This record gives sequence, C-alpha cells and structure tokens, in this order.
Amino acid sequence: MKKLLLIFAIALFAISAFAQDVKSTCQKINELNNRVLNGTIKRANAAKQFKTLLAQIKGSVSIGNPAWVFPLKGYKSSAIGGTNGNGYSDKGYNYLDGNKHTAHPAHDIFINDKNQDGIDDRSLKPVDVLAVADGIVVACSNDWEPASTLRGGKFIWVYHPTTGIFSYYAHNQAIFVQPGDELKAGDKIAEVGRTGLNAYKKRSPTHLHFSAFKIVNGLPVPFNPYQQLVKSTKK
Ligand SMILES: [Zn+2]
Repeated sequence: MKKLLLIFAIALFAISAFAQDVKSTCQKINELNNRVLNGTIKRANAAKQFKTLLAQIKGSVSIGNPAWVFPLKGYKSSAIGGTNGNGYSDKGYNYLDGNKHTAHPAHDIFINDKNQDGIDDRSLKPVDVLAVADGIVVACSNDWEPASTLRGGKFIWVYHPTTGIFSYYAHNQAIFVQPGDELKAGDKIAEVGRTGLNAYKKRSPTHLHFSAFKIVNGLPVPFNPYQQLVKSTKK
C-alpha cells in the first residue's frame, strides 16, 4: 500500500513539474515575442531562441482536435472583410520585423458596431473572441493605452500542437488568458475591441484581426486561413 502511495505521489509530482515546465516555456515565448515586437533583440538571436522554445513545447504538449470553430461568437465567415477573403496579403511579411512588419497576413472580421463603442448593436453585449482550435496560449498582451504605437493592441497567440500552427487574435478590448493556459476549441479568450495604433482610429470599423501561421525553419510564417474559416463551425 505504502509503495502504491509513493508511486502515486511521484507521478503527481512529475505531472505538476511537467505542467510548470510548459507554462514557463510559454512565458519565455511571451517575453521573446515582446522583444521581437519592440525590436530589442537581434534577429538571429530571436530566431534561435524561438526554435529552441518551440521544440520544448512541441515535445511536451499533445492536445487534440484539429477542427476549427469560427473565432467570433454569433458571427460567421460573411463577416470577413473584403471579397472572398481578398483582405489577406502576406507578401513581404516577416515575423522578425515585429511591430514594423509590412503586409496584412490576416482577415479582419467585422462586428456590428456603428457607434464604435465595442458593443454589438444587435446583442447589446461585447462580442466573444473564441479559440479556433484546441491549443495553448504562448503569448499575449493585456497592456495597451491609446498613446501606444503597438499595432496589435491587446493580442493573443495560441499554438496548436496537433497541427503545428499558430492562431493570432488582435485589437481585443479585454483578454482573459495568460501564457501557458490550455484551451479547447471554442473557449472564450477575449472580447472584440478597438485596441492598436490603427484599430483605435475613427476610420477603422470595429473588428477582430485574425491570422494563422505555420512553422517554417522554426519561425512563424503566415498562410491564408480563409477556407478554414469558411468551413469552421459557428458558435
Ligand atoms: Zn487587420
């Protein structure tokens, strides 16, 4: 009996140490992402660190279902800006350019918010931002002031180990996750907002800026997720 208890205790310790490990790796990715955004790290160094940290997560997390949920509750792909997804353009984009990146490797998904107060004109509530698939939060920022020049505002990066891709959600009003949080597809992670250098301006209708990235040579490279968004489940 004693022996069994000991084995149980050791297993429990191993599991919690393991969870702690993944969380601290996510926190390191978050710090690295902030340095990339602010341009306070050399590119080669950033790339090297990113590869190392990602390999640590990849080997240690294995969660689920690759199917996608549409990232805005109560909305569907008709809310995506442009025509048939032509708002997406990744030419010249490089993750390591941080806040100075070019192109728009994303889809802007617009909510009904004529007076730009961040409240949905139909439901009279904020619009929930949902994780598109099972994954783990690897970076986010809940700090943004109108004077900030950061373009993403309050943003979230989620890594999806099953498919090896990242999803990115920007301009949120409030975020409800932190690095290391494990998510199920459809979990509420934020509420749509107007944070970010350009999203805050009057000329910008309220939207979620949504991107998806593959890992190429250890770094995130955007791809067009339009078809996946169209086929995703509406919540
Ligand atoms: Zn955008």
